[in-house]
Amino acid sequence: MTARQRIAVLGSTGSIGVNTLDVVARHPERFEVVALTAATRVDAMLAQCARFRPRRAVMASAAHAAELARKLKENGLPTQVEQAPDALESIASSPDVDTVMAAIVGAAGLAPCLAAARAGKRLLLANKEALVVGGEVFLRAVREGGATLLPIDSEHSAVFQSLPEDPATWAARVDKIILTASGGPFRTREPATLRDVTPEQACAHPNWVMGRKISVDSATMMNKALEVIEARYLFGVAPEQIEVVIHPQSVIHSMVQYRDTSVVAQLGTPDMRVPIAYGLAWPERIASGAQALDFHALQGLSFEAIDGDGHRARYPGLALAWEALRAAPGTCAVLNAANEVAVAAFLDRRIRFDQIHQVNRATLDAVQPERPDTLAALLALDQRARGRAELAVRACSP
Ligand code: NAD
Ligand code: MG
Repeated sequence: MTARQRIAVLGSTGSIGVNTLDVVARHPERFEVVALTAATRVDAMLAQCARFRPRRAVMASAAHAAELARKLKENGLPTQVEQAPDALESIASSPDVDTVMAAIVGAAGLAPCLAAARAGKRLLLANKEALVVGGEVFLRAVREGGATLLPIDSEHSAVFQSLPEDPATWAARVDKIILTASGGPFRTREPATLRDVTPEQACAHPNWVMGRKISVDSATMMNKALEVIEARYLFGVAPEQIEVVIHPQSVIHSMVQYRDTSVVAQLGTPDMRVPIAYGLAWPERIASGAQALDFHALQGLSFEAIDGDGHRARYPGLALAWEALRAAPGTCAVLNAANEVAVAAFLDRRIRFDQIHQVNRATLDAVQPERPDTLAALLALDQRARGRAELAVRACSP
């Protein structure tokens, strides 16, 4: 028997983290959980430590770490408790870890992703914001560290599954990448009424159960904008080779169109355990726990153009992806920072739903990036953009 894959799950208490542990638990002979990290949910982390017996666990604050350490001791569990952010980088690059599941939300996951990339890990990337912010710096770390970067985002997993195995052949064969988008909860809503929607309505996604930030991003379609940027970096295509089509059923997870017009797609039920299992086992295939598609029960697959039916007005943020990709290096990091600030402000009821785009637009117009080429420069740019976005939030009328 070959050695078990030793896995660290960064963001283990979140939606992707929990789904990852669900798949891992189905294959105890293949995987060993050696480290788990979370921000604040101590009791969820305690239960995961009891179940998976990791050597190390990380919480975001000293208070949460102390509480976890006390509860682990009371339960006779030997897991060592550490504190983010330093412990995240140390785990991501530890010689005791083979595979890092990057499932933290937002730019907070960039430093551990870079650490895993430089240490040559198998890096399973759910944390799309890290690649959007890191861009070429991230890719360079992957190359120089000899890491294996595998997409977990369902669209990018679908594209990866639809591409030839040898990346050296992609450029000559691929015409375009077609990302599907469900359209989120407001696909048929009158754009003028979007100013009234609440955080609860925005987080109620029709097809997927996810964390709150990505749920809001799905409602604005900023999630798809981030995914366009993610696809550009993962697959090395030009921005104009990436297209988005609305597909409300979320059965086709994305597609690759080849030079001869042939299209290869990946289909399945909307269950994140499928791309997670693929990333964990690649190039092999293992049971994911997901229900198989029942083609006899499918009501049909439909598609809507972004240019039709008021969608440009409904999802003004989508076009920012191509704008940011064509602008100065670092612009994608500015867009991501603005969007993180805007979404948090919307969830805190400080701005309206339609003002998320105003904040993103204002921040892009105000912040000129200076070609960031190190982690420190990226984090400084991220902070500068957040400061500017916060001003834009305060300038929003109620
Ligand atoms: P979530 O909010 O459910 O979980 C986030 C996790 O990260 C939690 O464990 C939380 O404790 C941890 N975390 C948050 N902020 C942190 C910080 N500052 N420092 C350390 N840890 C922190 O989010 P999610 O839905 O699981 O999404 C995680 C990532 O995966 C996001 O980047 C999202 O875009 C991506 N993703 C999610 C889905 C999905 O179905 N949920 C699908 C595709 C991609
Ligand atoms: Mg996705």
